[in-house]
Amino acid sequence: MIEFSHVTKDFRGTRALDDVSFTVAPGSVTGFLGPNGAGKSTALRVLTGLSRPASGSATVLGRPYADLGCPALLVGTLLDAGALHPGRTGREVLTLGAMTLGLPRSRVDEVLDLVGLTRTESRRTAGGYSLGMRQRLGIGHALLGRPRVLVLDEPANGLDPQGIRWMRELLGDLAASGCAVLLSSHLLHEVEQVADRIVMIGRGRVLADGTLDELGRGR
Ligand code: ADP
Ligand code: ADP
Repeated sequence: MIEFSHVTKDFRGTRALDDVSFTVAPGSVTGFLGPNGAGKSTALRVLTGLSRPASGSATVLGRPYADLGCPALLVGTLLDAGALHPGRTGREVLTLGAMTLGLPRSRVDEVLDLVGLTRTESRRTAGGYSLGMRQRLGIGHALLGRPRVLVLDEPANGLDPQGIRWMRELLGDLAASGCAVLLSSHLLHEVEQVADRIVMIGRGRVLADGTLDELGRGR
């Protein structure tokens, strides 16, 4: 579903990604774990066509992201939750997204329920949201098109323990329905709580790749 094959990426002298290879299968919630600067965002940007690798390839559903017909209906992305139109209400953000994808307005209320934002909260401007609410809104935006693949950069950022449990349930349900989920985090305990598999990255290289059990972190 998601495949990185020998991806290398340089930024003027800095090797951000160094021969990165891994796959995420349908039904898996894979945590992409590494400290700040490890290369996680760069890898997710390469995957979603925002950045071009120097060599190697990253594909979603067997094709480069740019070659997917209507990517947002197939691949949900949350790359920067803070960047979601701070001047608009949560409802407006989702309604715009739904309209762009040609989805009925009713999908907005379904998504609000899915991510646990109340009707009252949805009518407030997103700029006044707590970090956790912004993450919920961003995840909801990513889920509008019922994607088969979900790519989330630091989605648990700002979530309290209850929010993390909520995310585990949501992502677990999505995986159970066949979705492939890749989420990044710099916190091991976060990844352990929401993911069933970990790909660990440091200084642009994959350091470990396995299920929580295989890595000795079974829950
Ligand atoms: P992470 O998401 O794991 O924190 P990044 O992918 O943001 O890591 O960064 C990986 C490395 O690449 C860092 O050294 C960072 O400074 C560098 N980097 C990332 N994006 C750029 C860019 N657009 N231009 C120059 N250097 C970059
Ligand atoms: P490229 O066009 O080479 O694929 P990107 O599109 O990933 O690179 O880069 C996005 C922009 O982020 C760069 O044009 C650069 O201005 C900016 N940037 C520079 N340094 C960094 C950094 N250390 N971390 C993140 N972004 C950076």
